[in-house]
Amino acid sequence: MKVLKFGGSSVANPENIIKIKNIISKYEDQIILVVSAFGGVTDHLLEAGTLASTQDESYKKVLATLEERHLTATKQLLPVNAQSRVLSKVKSEFNELETLLEGAFYIGEITPRLSDRIVSFGELLSSYIISEYLKSEQLDAKFKDSREIIITQKLNGKNMVNFAKTNANCIAYFKASNAKITVCPGFISTSEEGNSTTLGRGGSDYTAAIYAAALDAEILEIWTDVSGMYTANPKMVKQAKAIPHISYEEAMELSHFGAKVLYPPTIQPVLSKGISIVIKNTFDPEANGTLITKSKNEKGKTVRGISHIGNIALISLEGPGMVGIPGISKRFFEVLSQADISVVLITQASSEHSICVGISADDVEKAVQIVNEAFEYEIERGRIKTVIPEKDLAIVALVGDNMKSHQGLSGKMFSTLGKNNVNIRVIAQGASERNISCIIDQKDVKKALNALHEEFFEENIKQLNLFVMGVGNVGAKFLEQIRSQRKFLKENLKLNIRVIGMSNSRTMFFDEKGIDLNTWQEKLANGQKADKSKFLELVNTLNFRNSIFVDNTASEDVSTSYSEYLGNSISVVTCNKIACSSAYENYAHLKSLARSYNAPFLFETNVGAGLPIIDTLKHLIASGDKILKIQAVLSGSLNFVFNNFNDTTTFHDVVKQAQEEGYTEPDPKIDLSGVDVMRKILILARESGNVLEISDIKNNPFLPEESLKTTNNEDFFASLIKHEPHFQNLYASAKNADSKLKYVAQYDNGVASVGLQEIPKGHDFYNLEGSDNIVLFYTERYPNQPMIIKGAGAGADVTASGIFADIIRIGNF
Ligand code: ADP
Ligand code: ASP
Ligand code: MG
Repeated sequence: MKVLKFGGSSVANPENIIKIKNIISKYEDQIILVVSAFGGVTDHLLEAGTLASTQDESYKKVLATLEERHLTATKQLLPVNAQSRVLSKVKSEFNELETLLEGAFYIGEITPRLSDRIVSFGELLSSYIISEYLKSEQLDAKFKDSREIIITQKLNGKNMVNFAKTNANCIAYFKASNAKITVCPGFISTSEEGNSTTLGRGGSDYTAAIYAAALDAEILEIWTDVSGMYTANPKMVKQAKAIPHISYEEAMELSHFGAKVLYPPTIQPVLSKGISIVIKNTFDPEANGTLITKSKNEKGKTVRGISHIGNIALISLEGPGMVGIPGISKRFFEVLSQADISVVLITQASSEHSICVGISADDVEKAVQIVNEAFEYEIERGRIKTVIPEKDLAIVALVGDNMKSHQGLSGKMFSTLGKNNVNIRVIAQGASERNISCIIDQKDVKKALNALHEEFFEENIKQLNLFVMGVGNVGAKFLEQIRSQRKFLKENLKLNIRVIGMSNSRTMFFDEKGIDLNTWQEKLANGQKADKSKFLELVNTLNFRNSIFVDNTASEDVSTSYSEYLGNSISVVTCNKIACSSAYENYAHLKSLARSYNAPFLFETNVGAGLPIIDTLKHLIASGDKILKIQAVLSGSLNFVFNNFNDTTTFHDVVKQAQEEGYTEPDPKIDLSGVDVMRKILILARESGNVLEISDIKNNPFLPEESLKTTNNEDFFASLIKHEPHFQNLYASAKNADSKLKYVAQYDNGVASVGLQEIPKGHDFYNLEGSDNIVLFYTERYPNQPMIIKGAGAGADVTASGIFADIIRIGNF
């Protein structure tokens, strides 16, 4: 004997019911087929009951739709000649249902007994129609109403199965029946007084387990819409995988903590008989599914699955009057239990100062009221505080038999949540140590599940979620580099980089699944209107783990939003120098946010584009070295200009060319006035550990006063033409001294300066080509021969690759 249970989605429509027939036709054994109501029907029946009891006539519409659905299914499943008898039976059931709902409507009330009677129609109808369909397909099938077998009795206000009576009924009935397939409704039962009762939402699984245990079935098969019990709810975590083999205890713990695929009470009856459960997928019958047995997976992984329960509220009993006074917690739990409120999670501070329980949010109003009433005396005297609930919470649990023998799991769990800015409200660890659970905000559940899943089950692959602002020169190159490197990164560095959102100054576009980088231009062009605050809001609402904000703009406005990203544990990578060269206080604040929120703030491209200058500096300092002096040519733009300017060109033309080839800032005056280099040396000085403001940097400008005073590019370029003789003089003077013009930045003993210098032959800077940068670090370990970093220091391609390198640094963080 095998017991097979098919859930709501497996019987949702005739097409699926035909799938069931194809599956069971292959069975040689005698089977009991337990079925749920057609998918969604239980919810609609409850809805109709509620509407009727509030005297809302629209219950009739709900009822009519349900009737139509069952009649249509009957017509589609049965051959014409077999339909009329079944259709009239279905209609007569609906007539009875209508009478019951009318009763509720006229009285304006629905009792639990009437509600149970109303919902029982869902399973009664589905099992009846399916049994008739199987018969019409020439299968040896028979219908048996579970209410004639499963008997419940009231215990503490709840319907509990009376196993003695139920098992006896079951054995007696099946001993006498030799039908190959017996179709039974799940979920429904009868009270000792003869009224219809139910076994709780999701209770058809339990029905099947009761039959299996009573009859010592060979196996209990739960057929559903997923291929087994997964490492996490596959609807929340895309990367979740079916668990091939799991112990009863682990399965029970996972289902208790929200893995809806198995109704928690299901395991107990089969566990005591040692009957295996297999969870299979009606829509993919070949998939192996999950086997649940007694055997423990001793060598298995520590964490077997992650589950969650939503709709949780917290109530805490606290106050000085609790310390050392026995019986307070007893009273607290007693009032909750008397009100039939089940406690999902408990923690008590060791000081005995507070007890905190997680309950279903549906019960919270009642709980608060009764607890405040019960402790009125203590509350009035200030010994206990008035209970105030916290809502919109959820429990997340890690489950596994082997967790108890491993240290560090909870540390890993909480640091993963912390890194992703998931606030943990309460922590609990079951005495069995098969479970570590915590309460978090409901809004963080998806992120928490995915982050934990990545940490415990996908140790190999880390997903980085990028939000890119600015897709011009540098941004477009950056996106192209990601597109062409994605596969390599996934295979070699185990990093899965996805761009979730992007924006230019006109439009912005988001795709939760990752934007296709082959067609982003088109998607962005048709996106919504760009809005910096809305962008931030969307990034926060999406609430993805490992989120990174990438700023490829030169905008001051964008740079002021970093603190909000970092404060939400979103890393920031930027080539925009404005933030790091703004007031020291702001720079220090951003760095401190990055530390507090575990969100890296990286800006390698602020100095020397893709050259690893800041990273090297950080490593020198981290390893205990001290920076004594920095000498550098840090402007790719100015280097390009002075390498190309001579007595056969004009200064204006060379600057224009530099601008057109993307070597200057959009506003070239920022480069030529030395402001850009000032920012860079300031950042290097700060990264070396010094507190410095931009006003502390000496700048001897080489531009004429008039050029410096211009306020737009056009006037600026015009002034360059006007002052050509000035620039030619600078060139001639250097040439006469057998030197070259270089714009040099220096930091020495607390003093930073920038300016144009004539560099003589033989100097490290003399042969600097094109747009190259060079930095000489004189340190305690490199006092005479400096550490030198040299290479292309400007250009979209190298800047993009510098940003990319920062992203990878975060990936390895
Ligand atoms: P049925 O109607 O067949 O009884 P349920 O909806 O009750 O099906 O249970 C199956 C659903 O359980 C899946 O579709 C999935 O969304 C949910 N679920 C939650 N956690 C898990 C998990 N760990 N593994 C598999 N499914 C899960
Ligand atoms: N139909 C019932 C419910 O929706 C029982 C079940 O499907 O298991 O809860
Ligand atoms: Mg179910």
